[in-house]
Amino acid sequence: MRMVRAGSWLVLLLLISVFAAAQDSLSSSSTSSSEGQPAAAPAATPAPVPAAATDTPSQSTQSLPPVAATLNDVLDRVVQREHYFMAQMRHMHPMVETYLQDLKNDSSGAAVPSKDQYFLGRLDMSDGPEDTSFTGQPGFGRRVVARLTGVYSLHFLPMGFAQMVILDSDFQKKYYNFSFVRREFLGEIRCLVIDVQPREGQKVPRFMGRIWVEDQDYNIVRFNGTYAPQPKINFFFHFDSWRLNMRPGTWLPAYVYSEESNMKTGLSKSLHFKAQTRLWGYDLKGLNKNEEFTQILVDSPQSVRDQSDAAADATPVVAERMWEKQAEDNAVERLQKIGLLAPAGELDKILCTVVNNLLITNNIDLQGDMRCRVLLTSPLESFTIGHTIVVSRGMLDVLPDEASLAMVLSHELAHIVLAHRLDTKLAFNDRMFFPDEDSFQRLDFKRSAADEEAADNKAMELLKNSPYRDKLGEAGLFLKALQEKAPDLPNLIRPHLGNGLASAKSVRMAAVLAAAPALDEKRLDQIAALPLGGRVKVDPWSDQVELSKAKSVPLASAREKMEFEITPFFPYLTRLSMGATDKVALTSSSSSTTQPK
Ligand SMILES: [Zn+2]
Repeated sequence: MRMVRAGSWLVLLLLISVFAAAQDSLSSSSTSSSEGQPAAAPAATPAPVPAAATDTPSQSTQSLPPVAATLNDVLDRVVQREHYFMAQMRHMHPMVETYLQDLKNDSSGAAVPSKDQYFLGRLDMSDGPEDTSFTGQPGFGRRVVARLTGVYSLHFLPMGFAQMVILDSDFQKKYYNFSFVRREFLGEIRCLVIDVQPREGQKVPRFMGRIWVEDQDYNIVRFNGTYAPQPKINFFFHFDSWRLNMRPGTWLPAYVYSEESNMKTGLSKSLHFKAQTRLWGYDLKGLNKNEEFTQILVDSPQSVRDQSDAAADATPVVAERMWEKQAEDNAVERLQKIGLLAPAGELDKILCTVVNNLLITNNIDLQGDMRCRVLLTSPLESFTIGHTIVVSRGMLDVLPDEASLAMVLSHELAHIVLAHRLDTKLAFNDRMFFPDEDSFQRLDFKRSAADEEAADNKAMELLKNSPYRDKLGEAGLFLKALQEKAPDLPNLIRPHLGNGLASAKSVRMAAVLAAAPALDEKRLDQIAALPLGGRVKVDPWSDQVELSKAKSVPLASAREKMEFEITPFFPYLTRLSMGATDKVALTSSSSSTTQPK
């Protein structure tokens, strides 16, 4: 086997900067055109919309439906599509994750995270928006209130941040004033940009802000604003809500960014936070179907067949291995089915490349297969299930380089090399019969303190023989930054299935940390950790993951490092063609990164 580099790990990504230009052009006009416009464009007034199919000949426009001629026609279509959207969402049960960072101003006046909150659940809108919590909370909205505002008894959105995927559950032209702003591309999608304000005298809070409507089927693909009027005891946050084209003609919520910088919630208390909400796992049935392509089902019958060639019962040693494999496969399969684990894909191979580099240089030949998988959640964690190494999306996002990835993987590989046991109770299938929301309680891959220490020691040994041995300074910087942030970001660092990476008192792989150079936040050439959300891209329909293709941009100031922080979303919107119903993956591009250099 050859040594290969997973080179793309060296790429630093800053999602927001890539789209800085687009953002500037939006924000500069977002308020001026809607305020000071005393209901100037009532819906009944037909305002001409520029003919859609003429000014960008590069777009493929051959099969466009008839173009709506006036704003009024457009709005009829938008309202119709929005009702169709609501009907569709009642049958959808995506995972919904919100990660919130409470901010404070540091000595230089910059906003830095001071606390955080985490929620993971599954959206259920069959009877109005509702969510089922995975993290043991009664409901995110209320809980956040309790934590965020301390003694202040306040109520935010009745169902938390997931509400922000809905513009208006009863969207009607008669409730709003609309005014056409301009046309604009979001990614490759040409959109009509329309300002929306509730008319006077609305009894219930309604959306107020701006919508982006794609000009082919007139689906809303983005809306940015808040709900108004603000009720007396509740608070509505500002939000920027994005939908992606997941099936031909179907746009579903994928990202919501929310931010408040000076929201008064009491006599002296004001809210200052930013929050990311992500949705995925729309196609859980499809995930089951896709399993025939995964390594699980390809590999395991093979390893069993090897033993059965002799047409004899398994020896005790083989039986024990098969038993452990059964527990491992049950757990992996379950995690994937409920939408916590990405299906096997190209990104797993990149992770395995790094693990193989460690194995080869240490002359280790693992008996049986080893595989890597990606947990789809934001908190930084990694753990092993038998011979499966699992690393979370959030962890992959923030790791600054390949050496720090190797450090994380070496610890997990050490568990495998040292043959630390998987609790085989999961080999009994009845133990997998539990409600999805109990997953974090029922599936527990925590190790003892003794196993953790042994794995750290073994991992150091593995790293010292590896090509990463000279680059561990960067990895140590990552651990330093992590340890520094741990008291402020406990929910980012608290694992749900495995062992913690760091706490205020201790950090995993302390030997690497001890050898690290001094951390200097001011230095632009020292990147100890990346922001969340920049590296791994999740397909919210299929749960497939890939490395983001966005190119890194030079940082303008140290503030742009945003280590472990969340940022707004600016996804590059694309449209699925009608022939793309069997879209399998977004994985082809990353395979080139595993080629030898
Ligand atoms: Zn461990």
